[in-house]
Amino acid sequence: MLRALECDVLVVGTGIAGVGAAIGAARAGARTLLVGDEGGPGGVATAGMHRSMCGLFRSGSPAPTRPLNDGLAQELFDDLTARDRSTGVTALGRVYVLPFKTADLVATLQARMAAEPALEVRYGTRVVAAEMAEGRVEHVGARDAHGELSIRPRALVDCSGDGAVVRLAGATCASTPAGDIQLAGQSMRIVGVADADDMLRLKVPYHLAEASREGRLPLHARFTQYIPGDSPGEGYLKLSVPPDRTGREARAREDAHRVLRYLQETLPELRSSRLVECSPRVVEREGQRVEGDYTLTEDDVLGARKFPDGAVKSAWPIEIWSQEGGLRFEYLPDGEHYEIPLRCLKVAAIGNAWAAGRCISATHLAHASTRAMGTCLSLGETAGGEAARWVRS
Ligand SMILES: Cc1cc2nc3c(=O)[nH]c(=O)nc-3n(C[C@H](O)[C@H](O)[C@H](O)COP(=O)(O)OP(=O)(O)OC[C@H]3O[C@@H](n4cnc5c(N)ncnc54)[C@H](O)[C@@H]3O)c2cc1C
Repeated sequence: MLRALECDVLVVGTGIAGVGAAIGAARAGARTLLVGDEGGPGGVATAGMHRSMCGLFRSGSPAPTRPLNDGLAQELFDDLTARDRSTGVTALGRVYVLPFKTADLVATLQARMAAEPALEVRYGTRVVAAEMAEGRVEHVGARDAHGELSIRPRALVDCSGDGAVVRLAGATCASTPAGDIQLAGQSMRIVGVADADDMLRLKVPYHLAEASREGRLPLHARFTQYIPGDSPGEGYLKLSVPPDRTGREARAREDAHRVLRYLQETLPELRSSRLVECSPRVVEREGQRVEGDYTLTEDDVLGARKFPDGAVKSAWPIEIWSQEGGLRFEYLPDGEHYEIPLRCLKVAAIGNAWAAGRCISATHLAHASTRAMGTCLSLGETAGGEAARWVRS
């Protein structure tokens, strides 16, 4: 059965950017419809079992007491720290993050959305078509468990993580050459860990690097991180997944089990550990990026550039997970931040379309900074607000 829906602003993608965009649009007075093909909010952040929100704070000392951006960034910070009194601004090398529990993030996003009367949320809904008329997206086709949906939005915010909807409408997007695409991720939650001296953060990558060098594990196993969990004996293994896609989900899962088996055999601290949860899918750092009215560059990021239409602030470094070398950071000067202009969110080829989150208009390297969750949230809020104001104008 084909069902018809109308809205002022359609937001596609229920990741952190999509939730931000939907709330931003609804608060700016638009009848807002948020659709996403997953079963709940959070996207990569929940599927990847993230433990820390990056991109929320400035760097440098003294430690910040509040996020760089106002609005939802501040609200989420307040909500998460109220839900979990043990969390707060936490130094991680030269930068600061906010540790969080997945359940708290999901509950917070749901509560914030439920408080918006102008917002309707539909999970399990995949956008499969987008048609243009006179330079604007006029019709969007979607599917859910009950059949087809025909949506007529006045404005669109693409928060799909890879410009999926604007591409369906015919807009071109930028992709990174295959060799430069960053490693994707797969996480495992384990229990029964005996890490009395808190050394597994160092021991796990060390032993996996040895095993990779000796050919006992795949090369990318050496980029695995170990992160302690919330309760005694709990920990997370964050594995890297190369970008070649054929049979990747099954291979990543197989690699994850091999890595855990190797660690159980090698490290006494992990001998009695067991797997309790695995990421439901491989999560991507990098997809396609829209072509906007401006493309943010690595020079803008590292030079802490400000813009007349600067909309979102970030101080997160360029965080590259390369296929050959693993993790590398390039930092802004301490205490500095850059701005992301509104023009990076406006899809150049489509009059009524904006983008937010992982798919804004940025170069491969600039994106390695802007994709942090805290930044994606504020980008979403800004894009949603802009789309709503455009509809009202
Ligand atoms: C391995 C890994 C580790 C990371 N670690 C951290 C970290 O520790 N801290 C941090 O701050 N950031 C981290 N990041 C980065 C951060 O998580 C992401 O960049 C950010 O969450 C992206 O949010 P988003 O909303 O833009 O995209 P996504 O979370 O990808 O959301 C996009 C949503 O759109 C949906 N969608 C796509 N196409 C369609 C369609 N056609 N119809 C309907 N829905 C659609 C997707 O299913 C998804 O739900 C990490 C990323 C990875 C991959």
